[in-house]
Amino acid sequence: MRKTVTTKNNSGIDIEFPNKCPRCHTGILPTELFAFDYKDSKNARIAYVVFRCPVCEKLFSTEYLISERGDSLVTLRNYPTMHVAEDFSEEIKKLSPKFCQIYNEANFAENENLNEIAGMGYRKALEFLIKDFATRNNPDKKSAIEKSWIVQCIKDYIDDKRIQNLAEKAVWLCNDEAHFLREYGDIDTVSKIKVFIKAIVNFIESCLAVEEAEKIEKRK
Ligand SMILES: [Zn+2]
Repeated sequence: MRKTVTTKNNSGIDIEFPNKCPRCHTGILPTELFAFDYKDSKNARIAYVVFRCPVCEKLFSTEYLISERGDSLVTLRNYPTMHVAEDFSEEIKKLSPKFCQIYNEANFAENENLNEIAGMGYRKALEFLIKDFATRNNPDKKSAIEKSWIVQCIKDYIDDKRIQNLAEKAVWLCNDEAHFLREYGDIDTVSKIKVFIKAIVNFIESCLAVEEAEKIEKRK
């Protein structure tokens, strides 16, 4: 919803109100308490608006880029930043708790616009997921899997061709994030890596469900 508020320096600004509280993650229509605008060193007009959430009663602020006419052009960010942890299934949490932890740390970095670090974080998360899944299926090869290079590990110990293909391509894109020169600069690598990791998670869950089903024998 757009609404005009008056800043402490007495200018009217027309801004898009946040529709979600970054503190309790509830959809809301917040109350504005205080607004302030100023020109930064590059002569861009910036406004800060402090809101109160009607659900959790906590305060948060939103930063806007304002046009010369007083309209908000872009919502730059919320303080605090909204972090919603990815809640993986019980099967994935049990298979690879480290993957879940590192994935969420990478996701936190991404939400804080630390994209260089996020890409490398997703790479590390992917390695744990693949190696834990490989070890689960080949318990006698645990030590070899731990030491193996991830691409080799995918080739040698991941049987499902769909997971193999997704993991291999995800590693290519992840490596781009870690290297000085980019090979895949035309691709939004971090977003694509996340799509591939989520697909791998889905296929692993399917494999586990199939195994579970196969174990059930007909009674009577
Ligand atoms: Zn709230």
